Amino acid sequence: MSLFSFALPLNGKRCSACDAALSNWYFEKDGLLFCKDDYWAKYGESCQDCGHIITGPVMVAGDHKFHPECFCCTSCGNFIGDGESYALVERSKLYWRREGFLVAKSLNDK
Ligand SMILES: [Zn+2]
Ligand SMILES: [Zn+2]
Repeated sequence: MSLFSFALPLNGKRCSACDAALSNWYFEKDGLLFCKDDYWAKYGESCQDCGHIITGPVMVAGDHKFHPECFCCTSCGNFIGDGESYALVERSKLYWRREGFLVAKSLNDK
């Protein structure tokens, strides 16, 4: 599967979402053409931790998605492996399950 299409400048192609002229390169999906921003806005997933688009493997925690290399504990910074227990605190902060439990508890105590 090829995500990228390359085109010559001034080819007259336009983004099907924002109508911007697609001069350098563009994405094609289901027969529609998109500029990079619209393609990723529609079909891309951005990493909860670093905010960059995820183009490879994805780690999922609740509603959030992470690069595998960004899937680490907010407290100790160690990677949390696939299948290991984690906790999301305040809906988006990732911790080892045990550390997350302690953090959540201290937040509740305030
Ligand atoms: Zn566009
Ligand atoms: Zn990331």
